[in-house]
Parts: sequence; C-alpha cells; structure tokens
Amino acid sequence: MTVRTRIAPSPTGDPHLGTAYIALFNLVFAKQNGGEFILRIEDTDQLRSTPQSEKRILDSLQWLGLNWSEGPDVGGPHGPYRQSDRSDIYKKHAQDLIDNGHAFHCFCSAERLTELREKQMAEGQTSGYDGHCLHLSKDEVTKRLEAGESHVVRMKVPTEGVCEFNDLLRGPIQIQWSQIDMQVLVKADGLPTYHLANVVDDHLMGITHVFRGEEWVNSAPKHQLLYKYFGWDMPQLGHLPLLRNPDKSKLSKRKNPTCIQHYQKMGFLPEAVLNYLGRMGWSMPDEREKFTLEDMIEHFSLERMSLGGPVFDVTKLKWLNGLWIRESCTLEDLAQRIQTWALNPENLMPMLQDAQKRIDTFSDLAPLLSFYFSGDLSLKAEDFAHPKMDEETVKTALQLALWELEVQQDWRKEPILKIFQGVAAHFEVKLKDIMLPFFVAITGQASSVPVMDAMVHLGPDMSRYRVRQAVEILGGISKKAMKKLEKQKLCIDTSDV
Ligand code: GLU
Repeated sequence: MTVRTRIAPSPTGDPHLGTAYIALFNLVFAKQNGGEFILRIEDTDQLRSTPQSEKRILDSLQWLGLNWSEGPDVGGPHGPYRQSDRSDIYKKHAQDLIDNGHAFHCFCSAERLTELREKQMAEGQTSGYDGHCLHLSKDEVTKRLEAGESHVVRMKVPTEGVCEFNDLLRGPIQIQWSQIDMQVLVKADGLPTYHLANVVDDHLMGITHVFRGEEWVNSAPKHQLLYKYFGWDMPQLGHLPLLRNPDKSKLSKRKNPTCIQHYQKMGFLPEAVLNYLGRMGWSMPDEREKFTLEDMIEHFSLERMSLGGPVFDVTKLKWLNGLWIRESCTLEDLAQRIQTWALNPENLMPMLQDAQKRIDTFSDLAPLLSFYFSGDLSLKAEDFAHPKMDEETVKTALQLALWELEVQQDWRKEPILKIFQGVAAHFEVKLKDIMLPFFVAITGQASSVPVMDAMVHLGPDMSRYRVRQAVEILGGISKKAMKKLEKQKLCIDTSDV
C-alpha cells in the first residue's frame, strides 16, 4: 500500500497557520513512508469560497516549501482536485446512498427546523433532526420531487448504541450515536456538504491516512458510517491538537496574527516558520529546537506527538527565526533573500511612485518609507492625539473601520476610500479628520505618502494588523464593550465601486 495523505483547505479566507501546520504533518508522514502528499480544494461552500483565497493558500503553502505532487494547479491521475468541478461525482454517490436505503430526501422547511431546534434546546436535549421525513413513502417522495419541492438529502444514522473508531494519536474513541445528527449530505442547491464530498474524494483519491484538526473528531462517526454504506475502507484518522494562543485560547487573529502571509511580510524565513510549526505537538528525539523539514521527515514518529494544546508564541518563533538567520544563512544568501523579500523593483516601484515627488536625495527615502519595511511600529497612545476627536472616539472609529477592512476582499483604493467615507459619515466628520488616526496606525507618522496607496501596497493583512495594533495601543476594547459596539457595525457595501 502506498501511503497517501492530503491537505484539503477550504478557500474561504486568509491562508491560516493552522492549514500549514496540518499540511506539514500530513506531508511529513507521507514522505517518511515513501508516499505521496496531495492537495485538494474543498470549495463546497460556494458563497464563501473565492479564487483569490485559493490562490493565496496555494502561494503560502508553496512559500513554506510544502509541495504537493497532485493538486488543482499541477493536475494528477485522480483529478479534478477542486470539489466544485466534481459535482456529478457527488450526485451519483448521493443517489447510490438513496437507492440503497442509506440516505433519504428531507423536505422540512427552515422554519420547521428552527422551531424543532428551539424546542429541543428549551427541553435540554441535544439538538438534531427528528427523522420527520425518514419514513415518507416512495410515492410521496416522487410526487414531491416532481412538484419541484425544495429538499435536501440526509444520511441515516442509528439512534442507539455507540460508534467506536481508532484515532492514530488518541487511540480508541467512542461516541454515542444519539449524539450524531442525521447529517445533510446534499444541500437544497444540489451541492454536496463537506461530509459527503470529503469521504467520496478521500476514497477516490486513494487517501490512506488523514491528519486533521481535532475540531473534526465529532464528524468521524458520520464519515465512518458513510464509508460503511459505500462499502469502502476508511482511511486511518489522526486528530491533531489545535494551535493555541499563549493564554491557551484557540489561536485567533485578535491575539496572534494567523495569516501565513503576515509572517512572509514580516520577514520571517519559511524554513523557520515550518520548523516552529513542526514543534507544535512534536519534538525531535534529541529535543533540539532547530531542524529542517528533511530532519523532521527522517526522525518523525507518531509516538512523540503530544496532545496538550501546542502554544504558538510569536516571541519564540522570532527567536527561532533569529537562529536561522544567524546560523543557516551566508551573507550572500541573506542579501538575496532580503532582495526577494522587499528590495526588488516590483515591490519598490509602487512605493516610489508616491515618494518621487517628496524626496530630494535617496537618503530621504528611509525616513519616508521605513513603515513599508517594518513589522510593528513603535507607537504610543499619545501619537493618536486628535485635534477634533477624543481618544475613545478615535478607538471606536479604528475598530468600526477594522471590521469593514476585515471583510473587504477587493483591496483596491476605491473600495477602501468608500469604507473611510462611510466611517467619516457615521461620525459626522470630514474625511480628512477620520483619516488622521489611520495615517498614524499605518505609516507611524501623522503625514507621509497617501495612506490609501500605502494600504493598497502593504496589502490587506499588514494593513489590518496595524489597525488592530492601534486599537490595542489605545487600550483595547473589552469583550463587553465589543459586544455593544458590534451593534453599530457599519456593513458598508463596496460592491459598486
Ligand atoms: N476542508 C476542511 C478544512 O478546511 C478539511 C477537513 C479535513 O481535513 O477533513 O478544515
């Protein structure tokens, strides 16, 4: 048997460190066993999936050196590798399940399901589908389908007994069937849910081992049942512990930048980031902290994995990155890498477009543009002092804009301007006045090159990071205040610019 593992990202947002962490362990396991590591795009959520996100995920994983031998970009014998291109395959498999009595059509309306959930919650029961459409006669189903009634397909799930499966890291796991919902497999729009597509694809793509985040443990019984219904062997599953913030909460961008490209922009070496991710839940037999991907492949063993939530600590990563810079880069190599990082014409030209008008000598450039080459700007609350707005209002404006910027996909100047105009209108101040704190947050100075150009060129991740940092520098916003503020969210529509 050839070991085959995969990473199966959903292209619904920024390329997340957690994806790289899971990809790393899948790749290492496959390579150690002389197998293959592949990439599949799980874009069944058509509303949230975007080609931009897919590209950024692929670019980020490639930057880290996590290379796959089959995928949407390189093709392979088990393609297509993007789920949106595989609809017919899922349709056929869903039909097989229905024909064999393992799945059924469900016509329940959203209102009925909401009512049911509310009732179950009020009675302290586990919420889940009650089997209302489970025993509809064949004739009735045909009639309703022919009448074009909206419906989904659900899988049948036992109501009693215990599901047991083996986890490569956790050993045997038991979950009561009564806790498992009759999962929707095909949505009303005819597209599959994650569960159906994932199982069908893992089987058809010959996946033998699946390492994924522990948030998927509760899905394993559904998957095991689907494999049984189809008459297929289930890949071996291993659920990795979730990455944590230093305070042990689930890794989140409010406390730690989670976007892989953030670390690229900050000037980390991909080898060091990969090395640090390898330290998450695993250690070298000799406990050495610095190791390469090849070292990891050579020495990896599941026995050395620990399940206690691994802490992703940027300070520690920085220290490790320093080791890599000092110990593993020649001066020549370093010069080359820094050039690739930022000191290349492609990166410099858009910066110079604004700077050219403002400089008399080249040496004027460093003070003017230093923010482009910096990570954290050393700012203090006083730097945000505003002639017309008090500190609390400035902080609120930053947060309200941040929410807009966080969901803004089209990162051109025009939509960003529209966001600032919306924030200015909300506070009934001039655009110029609302821009002041953003100038400071983004460029570290009260005036510099045009801030919107700077944001476009810095990119969404670093721009959002700096605004987030500014809110923190101004004392942050408590959970309670945040809840209250959420009601004021502006939801500015930028789709028309
Ligand atoms: N698309 C899922 C995710 O992004 C994959 C989960 C799995 O590996 O089964 O987390």
